[in-house]
Amino acid sequence: MRCQQRVFADYHLHQCTRKGVVGEEGKVWCKQHLPSAVKARREESNRQWAEKHDSERLLRTTRDALIEAVLDEVGGDLSLTIFKARKAYEAARKS
Ligand SMILES: [Zn+2]
Repeated sequence: MRCQQRVFADYHLHQCTRKGVVGEEGKVWCKQHLPSAVKARREESNRQWAEKHDSERLLRTTRDALIEAVLDEVGGDLSLTIFKARKAYEAARKS
């Protein structure tokens, strides 16, 4: 029995061509289309996205705090300092 998943290919919906090897939700699925496996992959992908998002927010917060601290400490015309801080931030973001 073939996997019950419908897949889009050649501009049409087809039934997955792989053999159904696992039963779940009253149907059989290949390992790739098993609903619980699909769900686990989606959750892992969401988790990775959230992790990346959190680290970017932390970086932004750190940058803002650093700039504020420098402004407090030195005062005056800090356009060059801010420019350098931004460059360092952008370099850190890329790495
Ligand atoms: Zn399949």
